[in-house]
Amino acid sequence: MTRRKTPSRPTSSDAGASDGRLLRAALDSLTQGAAVFGADRRLQAWNERFFDVLELQGDLRRPGTGLAELFRALTGRGDFGPGDADEAATREVERLFLPPDPAHLHLTPGGRVVERLLAPMADGGFVVTLTDATDRRRAELRLMESEERYALASAGANDGLWDWNLSTNRLYLSPRWKRMLGLAEDDVGDEPSEWLDRVHTDDLERLSAVLEGHLAGRSPHFESEHRLRRTDDSYLWVLARGLAVRDGFGRATRIAGSLTDVTDRKYQEAQALHNTLHDPLTQLPNRALFLDRVAQALFRARRAGSGRFAVLCLDLDRFKLVNDSLGHRLGDELLAAVGRRLAEIAGAGQTVARPGGDEFAVLIDEVAGPVEARALAERLLADLTKAFDIDGRRLVVTGSVGLALFDPAYERAEDMMRDAELAMYQAKSLGKARAELFHPSLHSHAVHLLTLENDLRQAIGRNELQLYFQPIIYLKTGRIAGFESLARWRHPRRGLLGPLEFITLAEETGQIGQIGAWVLEEACRRMRDWQARYPSDPALTISVNLSIRQFNQIDLVTEIVEILARSGWRAGKLKLELTETALMQNAARAAHILHQLKAADIAVSLDDFGTGYSSLSYLHALPFDTLKIDKSFIAGMVSDRSKLEIVRAILLLAHNLKMDVVAEGVETVEQLAQLRALDCEYAQGYLFAPPLDAEAAEQLLVENRKW
Ligand code: C2E
Ligand code: MG
Ligand code: MG
Repeated sequence: MTRRKTPSRPTSSDAGASDGRLLRAALDSLTQGAAVFGADRRLQAWNERFFDVLELQGDLRRPGTGLAELFRALTGRGDFGPGDADEAATREVERLFLPPDPAHLHLTPGGRVVERLLAPMADGGFVVTLTDATDRRRAELRLMESEERYALASAGANDGLWDWNLSTNRLYLSPRWKRMLGLAEDDVGDEPSEWLDRVHTDDLERLSAVLEGHLAGRSPHFESEHRLRRTDDSYLWVLARGLAVRDGFGRATRIAGSLTDVTDRKYQEAQALHNTLHDPLTQLPNRALFLDRVAQALFRARRAGSGRFAVLCLDLDRFKLVNDSLGHRLGDELLAAVGRRLAEIAGAGQTVARPGGDEFAVLIDEVAGPVEARALAERLLADLTKAFDIDGRRLVVTGSVGLALFDPAYERAEDMMRDAELAMYQAKSLGKARAELFHPSLHSHAVHLLTLENDLRQAIGRNELQLYFQPIIYLKTGRIAGFESLARWRHPRRGLLGPLEFITLAEETGQIGQIGAWVLEEACRRMRDWQARYPSDPALTISVNLSIRQFNQIDLVTEIVEILARSGWRAGKLKLELTETALMQNAARAAHILHQLKAADIAVSLDDFGTGYSSLSYLHALPFDTLKIDKSFIAGMVSDRSKLEIVRAILLLAHNLKMDVVAEGVETVEQLAQLRALDCEYAQGYLFAPPLDAEAAEQLLVENRKW
């Protein structure tokens, strides 16, 4: 058997010429690639398409080409990816030719898909057919992709879906995605710009950064909250989530995911933020937000090198009284009304805030200087005093205002606020219903008060408080009728302090309750002691001063009765000294308490008469035992005739109302003589003795002097 070589179209070496032609014609007519291999696994016949599909050229197209050569040609081309190319290639080629069942093969870098079918022949050879299935495979893949989309869709029917093919740069947007923005199905193409062009300009940069980060593999998934413009030009807050699909090299070829409408949540978050920065009652900015605005103003002013803004603090006067007498609900309504009025007066653009309680604050944008600032504050106070109509009631409030003007030395908003508040306290202590400008001297004053306050806390525990006693003389006999107790503080560094230096402070800090109880007990105990050792008939009285705060204490009478019982002193010999101011604040309550005290056999003096409101009307209504004429009248009595007449009138009035009278601050014998002539019962003053410590006061009792 001779082996006939043909130059071009080889056929089987042992087939006849007609057989060969027939076979060639059959092979050529196929749209697939086909090749016949012998039992020796060498090529016997083929068509062009076979090599075309495999993208193999050259001298392999000859009879006798072995499978091994084909392997080498295919593997050497590097179609099979990086790394262990040979091994993978070998496996693929073996799969191409050896197993009997059909298989899909990716054979080209472009991802062409070849399907091969292997048919064994009786003589041990076999026929291989190769079909280019790239197009069909693509269609299948597309189907798979859309199946994935449906899987994603089931994750949330409310969410829009998107799928961005990065190779083709086409963007699929689900109908729901489009509806969320008010778009109809056909309104939108498949360009990525359909999404990106609708992103709020403020959010675009962030979105791009997050997306690029994920595509570059820097983040495990893509997640971005941003605003998308709806067809009505409003904005929708969305949360976009997605995941990239990557090829064997880790390159993202596609990214798909969901789009959720988070507008409601965003709104709630904004609301929560609003709530943390605003006062719920007035809806005005709270302290935190106000300080932030001041900080911004400070920043701008410092950058510009100059600033003309001011911080104004306003505290309502005696607001506690409104709350206590009219109830909290009305108090709240009044606060809200004040807030509205302030916002109205200040006008748009100015920040009006409620930092807390009955305090308001205004950031005044433009103010030329201290004079204008003060004028502005006074205008504001004047507007504020116009009556409020709350629940059919006419309520009038006044406020005290403190102002701090911009100064480059201010580093923090808190400092400026603190100074405005200091000035406001100053306005309060100067008589309320007025405006004060911050002045650096207020600082040292405030620091002084602060240290004093801390010291005072320890004063009682350290026995630094001391009681002084000033005798009160019965003018008919010229003998001591009793004492007024006057508090002193033996301060470890500052020496002996009078009550004017610490009683007001103790009232403000609430320590007055403790101090007052101590004074009362100490005074009563001392009197019991003296009465036992220097008995007199009638027994001595002790006058104890009571401050406004103490007077407003709820269980005042009970506490006094308890202290009396503890100290062993007689109720009938205790006199409480009250000032008009304490009584005026709440006349009804004052009457109630005075009657309770009366019932407990405790006497009451009206102290410093003539310095307060001096309203004579309530003298009739309130059951005082004693009236103390203020020392300012006594001092002027001898030289100033009108003062003398006033003293005479007070004495007449008091006696008519069955009260006795103590003249305070008697310093001269002339004053004493006149008081005697006017039938004044008692006198107290330096002429007899200044306030004395217990030892010196006791000495007076020993002497038993007659004046
Ligand atoms: P007050 O009750 O009017 O006390 C009389 C004040 O006049 C005392 O001042 C006394 O030292 C002073 N004084 C007495 N005689 C004369 C005089 O002849 N000429 C002059 N110019 N002054 C005289 P002090 O001790 O400084 O007390 C001031 C105020 O402090 C008292 O006024 C009283 O309202 C209050 N205070 C004193 N002790 C207490 C206390 O224990 N509790 C409370 N809540 N207040 C107190
Ligand atoms: Mg007094
Ligand atoms: Mg007095």
